[in-house]
Amino acid sequence: MSTQAVPLAGVIGHPVAHSKSPRLHAHWLRVLSIRGHYVPMDVAPADLETVLRTLPKAGFVGANVTIPHKERLLEIADLVTDRAALIGAANTVIFRADGKIHADNTDGYGFIENIRQNAPEWQAATGPAVVLGAGGAARAVIVALREAGVPEIVLCNRTRARADRLKQEFGTRIRVEDWVQAGNVLEEAATVVNTTSLGMVGHPELRVPLDGLRPGAVVSDLVYAPLQTRLLRVAAEMGCVPVDGLGMLIHQAVPGFERWFGMRPVVDAATREALS
Ligand code: NAP
Repeated sequence: MSTQAVPLAGVIGHPVAHSKSPRLHAHWLRVLSIRGHYVPMDVAPADLETVLRTLPKAGFVGANVTIPHKERLLEIADLVTDRAALIGAANTVIFRADGKIHADNTDGYGFIENIRQNAPEWQAATGPAVVLGAGGAARAVIVALREAGVPEIVLCNRTRARADRLKQEFGTRIRVEDWVQAGNVLEEAATVVNTTSLGMVGHPELRVPLDGLRPGAVVSDLVYAPLQTRLLRVAAEMGCVPVDGLGMLIHQAVPGFERWFGMRPVVDAATREALS
């Protein structure tokens, strides 16, 4: 029997039972024949730092961190990547051999990789992107779109002040429009992203008028339950390229898995199947 330590990783949230990450990582560990484990850990906010400092002593090489810990993690970590600092939240932790906690945010990476895989013709520079929503996910999407070279981001959020704050923070390439204008601004969009929770099971439907969508536009919904949202269904009917949110969820997990377990997993149909 091997005496080599079995690497451990997991997802820390509160609650965490709904997380798809354990199934995703278990699938990759299996197909890559890696002796390792990935477990869900329900940790109350007051215990986050203690848990993060203790896990390496128990054989953990890293973790994903989700709601409500993503912002707090930045304060606890010893090292924070530039993109996590810019986004203001982190979702991936690496426990380094020297004892330091390294925090990164891979949501924006996952968002862009998902588009590149499912809309390979997509060119960021083609035209403006419309982003619906100004919450935590919108921050990662905006940073990623800017980095990819989108010329302008038109931001619409129900609470306009929240969108204005993002413009202040992320600069001049953002234009804020009122939520009621969302349907009209779609006419100029080469890329459309729903970062609101609208359309998700248990939430109201996204009721923005969609008849302005331009054929050929890439339309991405971060909502992944259901997989086929009204936005994506109408987008497909109108000749747009729909990109669902499950792909982002999968792609954002790739960098962490690779760092922890030493092999880069492939995102393919079997990966999606493992989560269905
Ligand atoms: P959040 O910070 O709570 O932001 C929620 C956003 O939805 C805000 O812009 C909010 O607008 C808007 N919203 C909520 N209810 C609304 C309503 N009735 N009408 C209009 N706007 C409404 O949440 P988040 O972390 O950004 O997550 C947003 C969604 O993205 C969730 O569905 C989440 O599951 C999904 N997500 C998916 C992935 C993925 O990998 N696919 C990754 C991250 C997040 P106000 O500012 O006006 O409240």
